Amino acid sequence: MNITGSRPIDRKERLLIPREPVPKQSPEERVHNFHEVYLGYDEESVVVEATRCLQCPAPQPCTLACPMHNDIPRALWHVSQGEFFEAYQVFRETSTLSEVCGRVCPQERLCQGSCVVGAHGGDPVYIGKIEAFVADYARKNGLLRLEPAARTGRTVAIVGSGPAGLHAAEVLALRGHSVDVYEAWPKPGGLLYYGIPCFKLEKDKVVALVERIEKLGVRFICNTRINAPGQPSVDDLLAQYDAVLLAIGSGVPATMGIEGEDLPGVWKSIDFLVATNLPKSDLPPGMPVPEVKGKHVVVVGGGDTGSDCVRSAVRCGAASVTLSYRRTEAEMPGRAEDRQFAREEGIKYEFLTQPVRFIPGEDGHVAQIEMRRMKLGEPDASGRRRPVPIEGSEFIINADLVVLALGFWPDDRFVKGVPDLETKKWGEIIVDPDTGKTSRVGLWAAGDAVNGADLVVTAMAGARRAALNIDAYLKVLTEVYRAMGIEGSTSDEKAPVAA
Ligand code: SF4
Ligand code: SF4
Repeated sequence: MNITGSRPIDRKERLLIPREPVPKQSPEERVHNFHEVYLGYDEESVVVEATRCLQCPAPQPCTLACPMHNDIPRALWHVSQGEFFEAYQVFRETSTLSEVCGRVCPQERLCQGSCVVGAHGGDPVYIGKIEAFVADYARKNGLLRLEPAARTGRTVAIVGSGPAGLHAAEVLALRGHSVDVYEAWPKPGGLLYYGIPCFKLEKDKVVALVERIEKLGVRFICNTRINAPGQPSVDDLLAQYDAVLLAIGSGVPATMGIEGEDLPGVWKSIDFLVATNLPKSDLPPGMPVPEVKGKHVVVVGGGDTGSDCVRSAVRCGAASVTLSYRRTEAEMPGRAEDRQFAREEGIKYEFLTQPVRFIPGEDGHVAQIEMRRMKLGEPDASGRRRPVPIEGSEFIINADLVVLALGFWPDDRFVKGVPDLETKKWGEIIVDPDTGKTSRVGLWAAGDAVNGADLVVTAMAGARRAALNIDAYLKVLTEVYRAMGIEGSTSDEKAPVAA
């Protein structure tokens, strides 16, 4: 099957095909639910969109720009022929989380942003939407049958079940290793389950991929915060497993250090997102849930997390939602598409503003914010123009719910609890960039714990390098044990490490 039947289609013809729009919920509809905004392609439209690919010769710019280096033209060729599962298998050669990346990668600055159709004046091929389609197609039709290699007798512990942890777990389990994944939250999935809102990635996809990984024999040990008081330590894991991968993310929220930041009604972004996007049964016991309905909500911060918070607040029935950012829109780090969606959903943006203090009402709950206007000064180390306060420009706005979405830091307390682990100034774990090896033997790290808060796909790319290096290490270890006449460990039959 292709759009011209058996007749070949040349580059010029392909360039004349207009982009197939992806159906999506209207703003009026979607502000009343947490379902994904995009409804996805159907079989007919995805074939047309994939046919727009010019099948560029290697090295293809889209593949180079993809952190997983997916063989995009080969996958799109299969899609253009109606071979959806074959296309999915091409993506799986390099990436195991196509259902996630197809939805959450900022494709406009990765694969799609480099597509040469854009350079020819057309709309770049919608690579991410096609990738999500083929992954969903394979899942809905139960086509993927994974066969792990024969058991090696080697064991791996992974700390963290976000994108880096899940990707590494699947890669290593498929190579026959026994993998245990330790997760601090009540359910597996880390950032994918607890951090990304449902209107970008519905949780049934995360649940399905966790189940797929569990079927490979991977065990998820939840409600276990490694290196916390009374919990197992990294050294405990190193004593029981042949290799340990730290995929702990970068989950410590940045703060402003201003008056009133601890008032009731001032929320950290991660707590707000978790509590508004998930049922109470998925939250840790006792975790508070904000009352958003009818509230005037102000979110502070211009990244993707800020966009996620304002859009969650709208869906919870807030009376008004405003996003405050200290620079202009041109310097905003978050995705432009998210801002466009947010505006369509009624969110108001206040650029060049910054809170000075949060002011309580008579009941002690936050009621107002003293804001200050800013102007742009000279560029800072990031290359963006520095926000400079305008003295005497302070003004007061009403806010009965505030969310701070200021970015995340690595968990300094975690890394300080691992003896001899080398880290950078702010706690990012230092690794060999080619292998993910840390300064400790048997210990690897990947993802935001290494890079600082970054993209899902960047975390996965690091996890892939680390997993492949762990696999190589375990093969050598097996040979050494064999030479010494030592039987392989069978600790996949052992209980996980307990506190
Ligand atoms: Fe594009 Fe992300 Fe998929 Fe790579 S993983 S092809 S960057 S959507
Ligand atoms: Fe196809 Fe665009 Fe990649 Fe070229 S750059 S191979 S047209 S997706």
